[in-house]
Amino acid sequence: MTQAADRSDWIERPAAATDRTNCSLDDYQALYARSIEDADSFWAGQAQRLEWFTPPSRIANWSYDPVSIKWFEDGALNICHNAVDRHVIAGNGNRTALIFEPDDPGGDPRHISYAELQAEVIRMANTLKKLGVSKGDRVTIYMPMVPEGAYAMLACARVGAIHSVIFGGFSPDAIAGRVKDCASDWIVTADEGLRGGKPIPLKNNVDQALEKVPNKGVLVIRHTDGSVTMTEGRDHWYHELSADVPGDCACEPMNAEDPLFILYTSGSTGTPKGVLHTTGGYAVWTETTFRYIFDYREGEVFWCTADIGWVTGHSYIVYGPLLNGATALMFEGVPNYPDHDRFWAVCEKHKVNIFYTAPTAIRALMREGEAHVKKHDLSSLRLLGSVGEPINPEAWRWYYDTVGKGQLPIIDTWWQTETGGCMITTLPGAHDMKPGSAGRPFFGVCPQLVDNDGNVLDGATEGNLCITRSWPGQARTVYGDHDRFVQTYFSTYKGKYFTGDGCRRDEDGYYWITGRVDDVINVSGHRMGTAEVESALVLHSKVSEAAVVGFPHDIKGQGIYCYVTLNAGEKPSDDLSGELRAHVRKEIGPIATPDHLHFTPALPKTRSGKIMRRILRKIAENDFESLGDTSTLADPGVVDALIDGRQHR
Ligand code: ATP
Ligand code: MG
Repeated sequence: MTQAADRSDWIERPAAATDRTNCSLDDYQALYARSIEDADSFWAGQAQRLEWFTPPSRIANWSYDPVSIKWFEDGALNICHNAVDRHVIAGNGNRTALIFEPDDPGGDPRHISYAELQAEVIRMANTLKKLGVSKGDRVTIYMPMVPEGAYAMLACARVGAIHSVIFGGFSPDAIAGRVKDCASDWIVTADEGLRGGKPIPLKNNVDQALEKVPNKGVLVIRHTDGSVTMTEGRDHWYHELSADVPGDCACEPMNAEDPLFILYTSGSTGTPKGVLHTTGGYAVWTETTFRYIFDYREGEVFWCTADIGWVTGHSYIVYGPLLNGATALMFEGVPNYPDHDRFWAVCEKHKVNIFYTAPTAIRALMREGEAHVKKHDLSSLRLLGSVGEPINPEAWRWYYDTVGKGQLPIIDTWWQTETGGCMITTLPGAHDMKPGSAGRPFFGVCPQLVDNDGNVLDGATEGNLCITRSWPGQARTVYGDHDRFVQTYFSTYKGKYFTGDGCRRDEDGYYWITGRVDDVINVSGHRMGTAEVESALVLHSKVSEAAVVGFPHDIKGQGIYCYVTLNAGEKPSDDLSGELRAHVRKEIGPIATPDHLHFTPALPKTRSGKIMRRILRKIAENDFESLGDTSTLADPGVVDALIDGRQHR
């Protein structure tokens, strides 16, 4: 069959997307070619949209063996100036920078203009200085999803301090570990957070963490007015300390390679790594990716549902949108409070145009049925995005049909904390879509698939996903542990950045992430990505979510162990087990027939919503003693219940 004839797995990009786009297929092809063949001039051009104190004359200077990565290395800029002040100076101070939607749907939303943002960031920056923070200091930010979290990040950038944001759901131990790892002397927090109507004792958690690590000062923002204990000499109320600070604060000139932030990875595969990003390359990368991938138009409302504690929140709530002068929505709450329609209620209320969320949220909402979506007028939406995990074609279809009414492009953006911004995705006006495929490489990105011995695989194939050339937004090191950086990413395949993910490339050059390489299972000599079996299970009308792992099997080498969560109202039974086995066999083939089906009301997930397969693997292996780092688990109770279920089989 010829390529042109077989379009069965394609979804054509909707006409509306094509009309408006800033990048057609021809543009994409020309720009992509230039970004590789003439990388320096391409990126020098992109960098010109930013204001530099000293424009860079050297663009790329990197090597993967030995590992040294520099971009724009003789340039100087300040990312806060570019994200905030630049727009005010250009006369756009009245434009809305942030819309804040509180946890309580009855609470008052806030609209913060660029001029207000500038004033708030200056106030925070001067307060940090008053505390004693200076250039190069590490400042931990442990905040709820409120604008003050963004102010704190931008204020650090303004004064040249390195921020380390910790997701507000983490425990005192997790905070202590991260504070210690980067020797952060300062913490910005709030009295409490609010999620789904429940207060989160942020300040109290910080107090407990600081029993274990020394600290010079804690800045506390009053949010819920909940009661907290203030330690004399160490803790300061923000509203008090900031009362008399000056109204101006120059932006510190930063070398492009000066550190901007440290961010700990999700911990899906091991102990979290303190990934370090620097200023110039990250600014250019987030500005450029946001501009092209989200195809932002002036005045539109962009909503990324991530938390600022994850890289997605850094790059696509704060830096990417603000560098583009966009309006970004910040949502304090959760998708199912007060009801399962909250996302759609917020989209309707704030006339959201671009909506960017994670497969875990899509699957959870899909499970509750489409009535929640249909209740709301979603006509403002024009682009939908997904990030964080492979999105199963079933969930993709639901997103496309039910949320997008079959009219909106979906971008499935593959990237990592370490990549700083999106790497593989379709562009809304350039590419047709294939449900389940991330799509094509973004400008400057050179993906390569290799086998386990490092041999390069060409054409339509499947292998380990590497990137062969540096891009501006690439992480520069693991903070304080450059060896771990080199070991983790550059030693498996010499001279290449190894992503840790498995991937298939089809005959059209589209990339399909098949899951972590560690998660690949080998059944009787057949290699299988866990994502494929999971997608087949989720396709079944009674299944909400599935996680698949391998376990030692006498005959096959590895057997297939499936953890399955059913849709609301469905009950596990032996009949259903048989039905699901038959279903997977039909969808993929007899080789993929599940050996074990383990029904569970919930799966263990990281705080960022990713399934922790390494723990599921241990449970399937009956190895309950060495579950590894569980500090980033969202709900440790889920693991206990699974172990219990396993022991009683
Ligand atoms: P750790 O590195 O600590 O194990 P993590 O890899 O989950 O944690 P992140 O950097 O938040 O931390 O996640 C990046 C990973 O998420 C990618 O390597 C990939 O496995 C997965 N991922 C992200 N987006 C997509 C996507 N669109 N499609 C498929 N997988 C994705
Ligand atoms: Mg990772």
